[in-house]
Amino acid sequence: MAKVVARPDLTIWEQIYFVEIVKGLIATGKHAVRSLVDPGNFPTKAYPEVPAEVPRDYRSRHRLMKRPDGTPRCVACYMCSTACPARCINIIAEEAPDKHIEKRPARFEIDLLLCVFCGYCVEACPCDAIRMDTKIAVLAADNRKSFVIDKGGLLDWNPADYPAGDTRSQEAPGGLRNAEALAAFTSGEHH
Ligand code: SF4
Ligand code: SF4
Repeated sequence: MAKVVARPDLTIWEQIYFVEIVKGLIATGKHAVRSLVDPGNFPTKAYPEVPAEVPRDYRSRHRLMKRPDGTPRCVACYMCSTACPARCINIIAEEAPDKHIEKRPARFEIDLLLCVFCGYCVEACPCDAIRMDTKIAVLAADNRKSFVIDKGGLLDWNPADYPAGDTRSQEAPGGLRNAEALAAFTSGEHH
């Protein structure tokens, strides 16, 4: 049932608005003077010279997770592109040479101009092959083509930029756990 919100009765001065406008200007002036006298009060960030800190769990630009040998964890199952409401994931599958892995993406592209950063692709992926934790939140380019990120671009990330406790990221080449993960991977224990 709808809730009725009572409207306050305005005084004659409030109905004229003039006094309220002056009161508003005085409040704005006070803030302006205080900021000029003490710039430390300025809540404005010096962006873009000082980039904003983006939290790790912010849904930022995607990356494709890597196996210990550097190949994508993606098995080209199309679940992410099926779940994507913006239809901006384009995958072309091919047969994987490894007998444990049926398919792999020959092509994997995301059109970031169409993407609505909903994260459904990450949730839909059955093998933690795609993530949105790069902290790349500002995307700028002077042509549309640059916003289509391909497989190479999605795989271009460094484990050093991710927390030491992020096991899966650290299993990728260059990561803290790559040596042991690669040994298990090449022996066929872990795929
Ligand atoms: S974040 Fe949403 S819109 Fe963007 S690629 Fe993933 S599913 Fe599609
Ligand atoms: S859901 Fe995961 S494994 Fe399947 S195609 Fe997308 S990224 Fe690859």
